[in-house]
Amino acid sequence: MIEQETTQREHQEVWDLLDTVMDPEIPMVSLVELGVIDSVLKEGEAFTVTLIPTFSGCPALDVMRDDIIATLDGGGFDSSVKIARKPWSTDRMSDSARAKMKKIGIAPPTLHGGNVEWEMHTKIPCPYCDSMDTQIENHFGPTLCRAIYYCNTCQQPFERFKQL
Ligand SMILES: [Zn+2]
Repeated sequence: MIEQETTQREHQEVWDLLDTVMDPEIPMVSLVELGVIDSVLKEGEAFTVTLIPTFSGCPALDVMRDDIIATLDGGGFDSSVKIARKPWSTDRMSDSARAKMKKIGIAPPTLHGGNVEWEMHTKIPCPYCDSMDTQIENHFGPTLCRAIYYCNTCQQPFERFKQL
């Protein structure tokens, strides 16, 4: 019984530590908020963290893996990272992640429930003034995950995290 409680507490500690590992692309959003942590399992004395890969073109995966191992090591936990064979969807992002993105001027991906339609790629509200009078400028922003839009109302360019 005590054994089980210890494991539960350890699991909570590991999740709390993971919530301090920030996404390399959006440094104020944690991996937990991004929804890329699929599971945490204790195997023997070490924890196995399963990570859902985000956009295949993003070079962030190795950075995430190293950050997870270093952060858990700092908390006194041995760990390894496995890559899940399932697609990540932007629907897995938490509301807090979406709110933080909007705050720094990145339009968050639209919730799509698995139905990604072109319409959602074109009608994007401006993260600064919420105007719908926006247009896509460039499909390829600073990373493959992002596109550049322009707001005709407040006349500012903004980035959008593409939905997936
Ligand atoms: Zn605007």
